[in-house]
Amino acid sequence: MGYDYIALGGLVPRRNEEIAEVLDAVREETAGEVRLHLLGVVRPGLYDLMRDCGVVSFDSSSPVWQAFKDASDNYYSADEDGHYTAVRIPQANLGLPMRLVKAGKLDQANAVQAEREALEALRAYDANTLGLPALMDVLRVYDDMLGTQRKTRTPWDRIQRTLADRPWASCPCPVCRELGVEVILFRGANRNRRRGFHNLWWTQRQLEQWRGDQA
Ligand SMILES: [Zn+2]
Repeated sequence: MGYDYIALGGLVPRRNEEIAEVLDAVREETAGEVRLHLLGVVRPGLYDLMRDCGVVSFDSSSPVWQAFKDASDNYYSADEDGHYTAVRIPQANLGLPMRLVKAGKLDQANAVQAEREALEALRAYDANTLGLPALMDVLRVYDDMLGTQRKTRTPWDRIQRTLADRPWASCPCPVCRELGVEVILFRGANRNRRRGFHNLWWTQRQLEQWRGDQA
């Protein structure tokens, strides 16, 4: 072919097993002698195979966009049960709460109060002055106000796991050290973006750890 460095695209929506098939097929053609770049693919589970197939680089924006687009895996973690789900406490003066207020289906003063109480309860839980069951109750009061017509149901089991495990308290990344419990709030572009930087930091650590294991 005459090329010694090739980019492979179109793999973003593929499952790990499918990407592995593609890499195996490419390896048969190149005998591992052509360097490969994977477009948009970061899969720690495939690092070994990627190395064996001649992948020397990849890029991906998913650690950042998952922080605010993914409904469940939006706070990366090495926990054996997988990534965590951030806690949604939407701003009462924006988005869905505001639409409900304008439609006459939600009292604005009640929403503002429920929002404030949810935030206070989360911070009190973080400070160990409120228990988990009490926090869950307060979160549900605000969530119930936002109605049952939403496309995605609130994943309470996943949120409870996040709160019980407190991953923000043990994460050594600069974002979690600075933001504390705020990083786990799914709320506002700024927090969501910074949770994306936690995800990016975590992805980098995973890669470094893998490299260290090779040495
Ligand atoms: Zn972190």
